[in-house]
Amino acid sequence: MSEKYFGVDIGGTKVMLALVTAEGLTLKRERIETRAEEGPRKVVERIAETMKKIIGGEKVTAVGLGVPGPIDFSRGVVTLAPNLGWKNVAIVDLFAEHFDLPIFLENDALVAAWGEKTLGAGKDFDHFIYMTISTGIGGGLILNGKLYRGAYGAGGEIGHMIIDPSGATCGCGNQGCLEAMASGRALARMGREALEQGQWPEGPSPEGITGSTITNWAKAGDQPSIEILDRQARYLGLGMANLTHLLDPQAFVLGGGVMSAAEILLPRIQAALEDYLMPGYSERLQILQAKLGDIGGALGAAMVARDFGPKN
Ligand code: ADP
Ligand code: ZN
Repeated sequence: MSEKYFGVDIGGTKVMLALVTAEGLTLKRERIETRAEEGPRKVVERIAETMKKIIGGEKVTAVGLGVPGPIDFSRGVVTLAPNLGWKNVAIVDLFAEHFDLPIFLENDALVAAWGEKTLGAGKDFDHFIYMTISTGIGGGLILNGKLYRGAYGAGGEIGHMIIDPSGATCGCGNQGCLEAMASGRALARMGREALEQGQWPEGPSPEGITGSTITNWAKAGDQPSIEILDRQARYLGLGMANLTHLLDPQAFVLGGGVMSAAEILLPRIQAALEDYLMPGYSERLQILQAKLGDIGGALGAAMVARDFGPKN
């Protein structure tokens, strides 16, 4: 009988859960609302209940837990999770109130990166950069076949690479972070600005414009929307070129909600990236779409428990 691992991926709006075998076969998966405003204890309680239901009588070896923010690994504490409104939450201890199982904490972008490395688009690479282009932009570095956390667990914050010091204000307080310029939220902002400038006299209300509004209009040939996507792709290409020169990866694996419009985005990102790269890099660099979708973080968390867990 194969050993089993449990993965949990806690996001701003949803928690994804998966029971996975050591070979990476998904036995069960589930999605529940996060409702972070109820506070960490309540949220963990609901997650634990769902986990117990999924696990039933099965024997689980370890649990991997992806959380959206930097981690103090020595204490099992999420130090800051802006999307959850949590600060210094001893999440491993909270889980330990419900389970007598080893629990491994990891940043959410890193678990998603590890999911792509073990089961998805990154399987063949030992050096790749995972980026999630969603409401914000997250990053996970796989270097030398391993997760790269940085000295304090806060490495890989690709979304906060500053690409235009006079650009839009980011949630982190800085100006012109990649996240502020090229995320799903940034697409909506650029859409609202274009609307204010009178680009769509017959257009919707500003609140009606989301990332998918812009990509859908662009697909239908709408010129102002295409220009917005070109700008977004420029910023992404710029950030990715900087990362490529720094790390010389084999590939980028791109996930997140915005990438559901990959057919219109990927060629633009690729073209911008090629413009910014020094000679010699682009021929060997692959730009791939993530394969695992929104369960990828939970699967990756289970694989983190397998690979960095009790036996390693
Ligand atoms: P989260 O940020 O909570 O992890 P997602 O990865 O689903 O969630 O990302 C949501 C973001 O993706 C939103 O900003 C949304 O506007 C954007 N988005 C979703 N689908 C598309 C699309 N087809 N084209 C462009 N943006 C999209
Ligand atoms: Zn920022």
